[in-house]
Amino acid sequence: MQRLLDIIIPSRCLHCSRILPTHQHLCISCLHQLPYTHWEFHRPNQIHENFSSLKNFLGGNALLFYTHGNATYKLLHANKYYNQPQVGKFLAQLSFYKLHEIDFEAVIPIPSHSNTLKSRGYNQTHLIAESIANEFNVPVYKSCLKRIKQSSSQTKKNRKQRLSVSAENFICQQKISEKKVLFIDDVITTGGTLKACIQSFLEKNDTSFYIFCLAQAN
Ligand SMILES: [Zn+2]
Repeated sequence: MQRLLDIIIPSRCLHCSRILPTHQHLCISCLHQLPYTHWEFHRPNQIHENFSSLKNFLGGNALLFYTHGNATYKLLHANKYYNQPQVGKFLAQLSFYKLHEIDFEAVIPIPSHSNTLKSRGYNQTHLIAESIANEFNVPVYKSCLKRIKQSSSQTKKNRKQRLSVSAENFICQQKISEKKVLFIDDVITTGGTLKACIQSFLEKNDTSFYIFCLAQAN
């Protein structure tokens, strides 16, 4: 069926629009030129700068750099707004080798507001977290954290507005028994939302944590 679809509606590279021979997301050239951060969990990087002041921080990493219009932007946009959840799975697979550096025992996705979820039909961060949890054979806690107040799209806000997201925007609904968790997010811009989220988690759980995001905005 997929082969037939490839002939009728050929898939195109999400970045350069070149027609692809099989159903993929990027052409070979764009795949090789993805803007990898080449960061490591245990070496200082931008995520360390942002989050190391939180208690129980173990390390952080981002797979790719994100700027408006770059290949990362187009992949995440396809995943988030154009109903292409398989792009999220593809990005999760690209991430697996980085995650072998760390010893996490559970995965927690950073929540979107439920209204966003309803309009889209799926939560892209949940799917990525599920793929990672399956690969590493650990549990995923999808309803551990809940966003209780909708904020308009983070990327449309200015820096001050983004930083004003507080811990009151999230509640932690679950006490978990694992001692080392991995928080998963799609894009970190200022880190304000993620920080608020982790703070609400730490109020209820004395758990050490790693952070992994698909992309760091720069
Ligand atoms: Zn391409």
